[in-house]
Amino acid sequence: MSKITLGILGGGQLGSMLSVAAKKLNIRTVVYCNDRSAPAFNFCDEFIYGKYDDKNEIYNFAGKVDIITYEFENIPFETLNELNKLKTVLPKPSINRLIQHRLAEKDFINKLNIRTTRYVYVKEEKDLETLSDFLPGILKTTTMGYDGKGQYQINKIEQIPSLNIDFSKEYILEKLVKLKKEISVIITRFGNSKYEIYEPIENIHEDQILRYSKIPAIINEKLFDQSKDWAIQIAEELKFIGTLCVEFFIDRNENLYVNEIAPRVHNSGHLTINAYNVSQFENHIRAVCSLEQIPIKKISNAEMTNLIGNQIMPYRENPQLKENQFLFDYLKKEIKEKRKMGHLTTLK
Ligand code: ADP
Ligand code: MG
Repeated sequence: MSKITLGILGGGQLGSMLSVAAKKLNIRTVVYCNDRSAPAFNFCDEFIYGKYDDKNEIYNFAGKVDIITYEFENIPFETLNELNKLKTVLPKPSINRLIQHRLAEKDFINKLNIRTTRYVYVKEEKDLETLSDFLPGILKTTTMGYDGKGQYQINKIEQIPSLNIDFSKEYILEKLVKLKKEISVIITRFGNSKYEIYEPIENIHEDQILRYSKIPAIINEKLFDQSKDWAIQIAEELKFIGTLCVEFFIDRNENLYVNEIAPRVHNSGHLTINAYNVSQFENHIRAVCSLEQIPIKKISNAEMTNLIGNQIMPYRENPQLKENQFLFDYLKKEIKEKRKMGHLTTLK
């Protein structure tokens, strides 16, 4: 069989790690990204710079690849849909459209009788006046949010004017959960009832950005099973192909809620590169390229720490890693505050 070429939309760290996993499987990668200095440039076989709505460049990209996938949600549906007419796009564009919209995503999860936080749609400022029942809460843009961007915590109605909320956008208001813990479950689905699922990962966020992940998650057996069951149910209902992550909240009464779904590989799963025989990235490539499904096995417990902004510096200057430590520098040119620059995984 001739060598498969996989197209990846998005050139961030996830695109980089997908490219590395593809290389291991003898698959060529062409990354398409709207940032000329995107990190995946250093890891893929071919890099195309273009805007996500530039039809000419998008067609050029499609002509070079056999299959297309994407590393982040915020790609216009029209682009994925056009591409899908030329080459198979996985996960299906309709899945991305559903999940990139927080309201549609939460409605979908609730229809499966899976618990989410309480939420309500907010179209304009005056809608907020009657919603004290949802406070304290978090106002989130319905689209384009990530790493806490586009979110405002509202404790009292009176506070709203001082928050300078941009009401040209639409929002949902979510009741704040008194969090005990956050966990995530990563699953790679290959077809009907065919999937590989990783054990729940425990996550700690700082300023709404993931800071730290570990396995095993310290949770009771019921939560362990319920989170996996819900992830399977979601992946099956979506008829998902590839790797998907479900983020969960656990409240102080040990209730489980789905926070959100990421239709892609996920930051909390970076530890699977070192802690499992097959990583979330390799599994994604295997699923979208219809390669063999290999049963996953845990090699070790692990912790992963994100290196955000300047935190990468000491590791660049003098890595000094122990035998059980693995450093990933995303090779981003510019260090910015709150920007994920790399991560460190420690096997335990
Ligand atoms: P993003 O799309 O930016 O990842 P999330 O909705 O996952 O946004 O929110 C980021 C983080 O903010 C969560 O992981 C959690 O720590 C906190 N958070 C968000 N919504 C709530 C909520 N309703 N209750 C408590 N914490 C929340
Ligand atoms: Mg999130």
